[in-house]
Amino acid sequence: MAKERHEFQAETKQLLDLMIHSIYTNREIFLRELISNASDAIDKLHYESLTNRDLLEGNDSFSIHLAVDGNKLTIADNGIGMDKQDIVNDLGTIARSGTKAFLERLREAKENGSDLSDKELIGQFGVGFYSAFMVADSVTVETRKAGTSQGFVWESTGDGAYTLDEADVAAHGTTITLTLKPEFAGSGEENFADSDRLSALVKKYSDYIRYPITMNVIVEEPVKDKDGKVVEGAEPIKKDELKTLNSMQPLWTRNKSDITTDEYKDFFRHQFYEWEDPLEIFHTKAEGTVEYTALLFIPGSAPYNLYYTDFEPGVQLYSRHVFIMDKCKDLLPDYLRFVKGLVDSPDLSLNISREILQQSRNVKLIGKNLEKNILKTLARKLEKNREEYEKFWNEYGKSLKIGIYSSMMSGENNVDKLKDLVLFYSSKEGKLVSLKEYRERMKDGQEKIYYATGKDKETIDAMPQTELLRDRDLEVLYLLDPVDEFAVEAIREYDGKTFHSVSRGDLDLEDEAFKEEKKKNEDIAKTNEGLLKAVKEALGTKVTDVRLSNRLKSGAVCLVADAAGPSLAMEQAFAGADNPFMKARRILEINPHHDLFGRLQKIYAADAASDKLKEYSGLLYDQALLLEGILPDDPVAFANKVARMMAKE
Ligand code: ADP
Ligand code: MG
Repeated sequence: MAKERHEFQAETKQLLDLMIHSIYTNREIFLRELISNASDAIDKLHYESLTNRDLLEGNDSFSIHLAVDGNKLTIADNGIGMDKQDIVNDLGTIARSGTKAFLERLREAKENGSDLSDKELIGQFGVGFYSAFMVADSVTVETRKAGTSQGFVWESTGDGAYTLDEADVAAHGTTITLTLKPEFAGSGEENFADSDRLSALVKKYSDYIRYPITMNVIVEEPVKDKDGKVVEGAEPIKKDELKTLNSMQPLWTRNKSDITTDEYKDFFRHQFYEWEDPLEIFHTKAEGTVEYTALLFIPGSAPYNLYYTDFEPGVQLYSRHVFIMDKCKDLLPDYLRFVKGLVDSPDLSLNISREILQQSRNVKLIGKNLEKNILKTLARKLEKNREEYEKFWNEYGKSLKIGIYSSMMSGENNVDKLKDLVLFYSSKEGKLVSLKEYRERMKDGQEKIYYATGKDKETIDAMPQTELLRDRDLEVLYLLDPVDEFAVEAIREYDGKTFHSVSRGDLDLEDEAFKEEKKKNEDIAKTNEGLLKAVKEALGTKVTDVRLSNRLKSGAVCLVADAAGPSLAMEQAFAGADNPFMKARRILEINPHHDLFGRLQKIYAADAASDKLKEYSGLLYDQALLLEGILPDDPVAFANKVARMMAKE
């Protein structure tokens, strides 16, 4: 094969360009990125060699070796290596979807002139390899994939293209050579050709890497006489020695009491590419039916794609400190998909496929224990440290709510596990409350837990349906996320009290005044049967019923949904999917005490079949839609009608 020239994929070019002319000042992390890739590559080979020892080519002492020669820095590993296809795919394109978001955030930051040095975006979004171009004028990758015979050399100056050629590569694995930019190979603070600096960086970022990171360093030994005594004044002997720079002792294997919070935080950041401190750290060891150590974290904030299909949940699995897999998603239930961390257990077998392992009894057992543990910690936090719990809830509450409602469909039931961890905004407290707190505050004789759905607090405050409840000082839970109502439906009841939407079914309040009012309205309805029927006919299939309202105080109309079917909010949440089962059965309610009702009565009395009644019916319906935050079916016609009426006035 002759030397080939390839263009980088457009997005890669963009990324490289940003990287090279970077506003990103924390350039030293390039080393961590390249070492972590080397470690990943060794993990892969290690894992594959369990079933195919030939891949090791007789060499099973894994290591990552650093070397400096003038302005050249090499990072060499004896991991899996890459074949031609791997190189083109992995080093020429950015396949992952997170990278687009990364580019956007980087560009955004650049426009705002902010400094990203603390927020380790590069690592977080996994665009590690290209970070080499932050410090190097050119990068050379020599590699041979284990089990193949042809090696390759890849070269680029990061200017939009790279070259690829065949090469003789003696050992499997990858050697990356950076020709450092002059400013990073000189004598300044940012000297990456200096072995002391490199040692310090390895200690700082890569101490826990499970394979030895080695480097030849010059050690000075004092001259000793034949009795072993140091000879004063003699020039020390300089010796070239292969030194292992990292301690390799995995943090989680150490005693809990010997680990500082900062060590946990550092580990979390470096191992899981996070830039914020975790909200919670769990470090547990268990012995018994299964033996394991788990080190789990709840990240400081939810990833932007937590609820999208490209988000990969899961924790790392190790067996006796040997890495098995990166994202075991069957360990923890899906509603804990935001938990990061690892489990190390001698009871996990290395020699079965990852798919079968995930389903194994031991994984399930460990998962169940950890789930219990996490829920217990969260419950304690809610009780003891409200502020921190609310922070957690604001980041991950949605995940728990989805867990409640989706578990009902999968047949398993998360309601009992999670209902006491749920918070909703309360009309009364003006803050988040738990169901237990709501229940404890319920008034004598109050039979239902009232809730209202809307896109924000202001919308719900302004809803005509909430006015009566507010008048009676009844607490209303505000359901602001489309998933909330589904979760509430799944919970069904709390401590014997059922949930009741202010805009579904009948609003049956228990007090005498309400009952009297209701009775009165029933009488008014009887005498206006014809009018209500005429309005309903005018609206055709848009509504299933038109009736007088018991829930309105100052508002003229509102739309409610039939208690048996989905609510309007649920319907709207599914509107995109156009799901026929998610159609709310709409009921138009008219306030019999509003002047507008008097007007309708007059129009009806004058001519029961008048066009005006039809037009007014349509307008009422459209208004009621608007109150729900839904556009009228024909906004232009609505606007025209209103304009015509205003002109007439
Ligand atoms: P990530 O490590 O998150 O996948 P990187 O940009 O750091 O992203 O690396 C891109 C890909 O290049 C890796 O996933 C891997 O397939 C390949 N790669 C990089 N370095 C090595 C290496 N030393 N050995 C083998 N493959 C590597
Ligand atoms: Mg990487």
